[in-house]
Amino acid sequence: MIYALIMCASAIAVVQGFPSLFAGESEDNEVVSYNFPFVTRSGWNARTPKEKTPLNFPVPYVVIHHSYMPPACYNREACCTAMRGMQNFHMDDHGWWDIGYHFAVGSDGVAYEGRGWDTLGAHALHFNTVSIGICLIGDWRYSAPPGNQLKTAKALITAGIELGYIKPDYKLVGHKQVRNTECPGKGLFDTIKTWDHFSEHPSSVDELIYVNELPESTKTMLLNRRNNTTV
Ligand SMILES: [Zn+2]
Repeated sequence: MIYALIMCASAIAVVQGFPSLFAGESEDNEVVSYNFPFVTRSGWNARTPKEKTPLNFPVPYVVIHHSYMPPACYNREACCTAMRGMQNFHMDDHGWWDIGYHFAVGSDGVAYEGRGWDTLGAHALHFNTVSIGICLIGDWRYSAPPGNQLKTAKALITAGIELGYIKPDYKLVGHKQVRNTECPGKGLFDTIKTWDHFSEHPSSVDELIYVNELPESTKTMLLNRRNNTTV
């Protein structure tokens, strides 16, 4: 697959291949660019992660989120500000090592690098080990994101398959299917229900114990927690 090299105003849309380190960190890795607008961490002035844990890939699930806050962003400057805001919130308020999502997509149709493909995310409790988390920046409870934002999110998933980070037979779910949350908002959730690979299951956090791909240790913990709260 030949990717078109896309030049962005603030960053060249190039990331490193295997492993996907930040651009420029290794001379040995294959350089990969995307056929959609892409901004690396340095492009939005990301802070350095406190720590990183490798993700076991290819993953069998993609989890779609909305940011709720910050609201939708429609240009590079606003979306970079949104990325920094989310990273600060996740690191300073939640105490996480980095922004929780692997990637985010703005209403400018640009994909923004979060943790990247090969790092364990912090976006869906109990489900992080088996998934890539993509956030569509904005509050999508009452409306769907614009077409260019949806198109880039789909292209990002396709790239993840081609790069070997997402299983070709992956399942697509909304955050609310694995956690008690409104995320990704009804407007966006109704949209992704129409996408290829959307899976009705799990339909809620209660069904996580039936997800084959989840480690037994996770399911045991979930079962114990359920038993403790229902007794
Ligand atoms: Zn979410």
